[in-house]
Amino acid sequence: MDQTPPPPHVFIFPLPLQGPIKCMLKLAELLCLAGVHVTFLNTDHNHRRLLRHTAVQTRFSAYPQFRFDTISDGLPDDHPRSGDRFMDLFDSLEAVSKPLMREMLFSYCRSGDARWPVTCVIADGALTFALEVAEDVGIPLIYFDTISPCGLWSYFCIPKMIDAGEMPFKGNDLDAPIQSVPGMEGFLRQRDLPTFCRVRDMNDRLIQLVMKEAQEVKRSRGLILNTFEELEEPVLSHMRFLYPNLYPIGPLHTHLKTRLGAEPTPPLASSNSLWHEDLSCIAWLDTQPLKSVIYVSIGSLAMMTRDQLVEFWHGLVNSGHRFLWVRRPNSIPGGDWEGQIPEELLVATKERGCIVSWAPQEEVLAHPAVGGFLTHSGWNSTLESMIEAVPMLCWPYFVDQQVNSRFVNEVWKLGIDMKDTCDRVRIEKMVKDLMDVRRDEFVQSAERWAKLAKQSVSEGGSSFCNLKCLIEDIKLMV
Ligand code: UDP
Repeated sequence: MDQTPPPPHVFIFPLPLQGPIKCMLKLAELLCLAGVHVTFLNTDHNHRRLLRHTAVQTRFSAYPQFRFDTISDGLPDDHPRSGDRFMDLFDSLEAVSKPLMREMLFSYCRSGDARWPVTCVIADGALTFALEVAEDVGIPLIYFDTISPCGLWSYFCIPKMIDAGEMPFKGNDLDAPIQSVPGMEGFLRQRDLPTFCRVRDMNDRLIQLVMKEAQEVKRSRGLILNTFEELEEPVLSHMRFLYPNLYPIGPLHTHLKTRLGAEPTPPLASSNSLWHEDLSCIAWLDTQPLKSVIYVSIGSLAMMTRDQLVEFWHGLVNSGHRFLWVRRPNSIPGGDWEGQIPEELLVATKERGCIVSWAPQEEVLAHPAVGGFLTHSGWNSTLESMIEAVPMLCWPYFVDQQVNSRFVNEVWKLGIDMKDTCDRVRIEKMVKDLMDVRRDEFVQSAERWAKLAKQSVSEGGSSFCNLKCLIEDIKLMV
């Protein structure tokens, strides 16, 4: 009789948002390349969008051991799942998706179908209910936090900040230093903590959620992180005291590219977008001079008011630089602003701008015409920009983004943090600083980090070895 153990079967449940889905699909592909069976759980809402806008099905058909499954997130299709209604998603996942997930895992374990029972669950750290479900079914769970480890560590230190009297914030000086986040003493200020730390009420839903996350991660089998050891060494070493089983295996997109060799060309490229990518912006970039364009995007969740939009627009136009701007549908509340835009902005945009509703971002950042990135400092965007040595002008919106932009400015020296400001004069100056005056200094740092990142995912590098270790540990669970 054949004594070979069956290959492990990992059940992946991302937070149903663009960043985590993109990141976890990359992990799924890396696991498939290592012979692991993968079931990837999408919400019905996102799965329809993914199939509509990408060739993900064709891409994954190369891996017979991969399959998608879907679950309801309990929200109506037209719910925004972003901006000020962002928390509805968490409530609904807990109320509706949690029992469905339990049922699904039980049925996988009972089923006599050709697939093996689930060996291990990998769930987003923000899905704090997932550990309880996995325990009910008797399956080990590893969390994967796709936000930045520096941001995550600041979440995990909230109880310390409360004990030290640093939270809730005293006074109104957001420049006041924060001393009780180990590894960040000396440069962290109140304004660099996630915006939800600005509330006075420590029973706030997001504060409670991240405190629960810190506890659940401690009880899980380990924590996967999309970073590399060299980038966040001090933070990771502090984290390891509390969470010894860390797997920093990033940057995931670079890791996957290294494993696959040359990236397949679109439509097979791994875009994994929930919006239609407007490829006309690549044709536009092809006609622009080297490093002349600033790319502007606030990611998949952040919002911008009409007034902020106008300030950014003036600042960009007055800087004299060319720009490629992603304006995600519904990211500017109130549909009536379009008719009120000053004529001079529209004329200048026709001359040296390009506006699309969604872009193939990794391809944009790798394009030779792109010389800077005005970003909301989402973690995926930050890593994608770093790898392409594109300096960043950071305008963080929420969650880990406030911490990320501080690290970009103060620690990694990759760009300028403009958080909490938004006026045309400063934007114009900062764009000029980024694209001309201080460009060389940022590019030099970015090239150093990009080199270290690529080494980390190459054979023998830290992320390469950590991924190997993760796969070995999963195999031991069979
Ligand atoms: N993205 C994209 N096209 C766009 C804007 C964003 O493909 O026009 C991708 C980007 O490459 C990144 C993800 O969307 O991988 C956004 O994730 P991030 O963590 O930066 O921010 P979030 O959207 O979660 O706030």
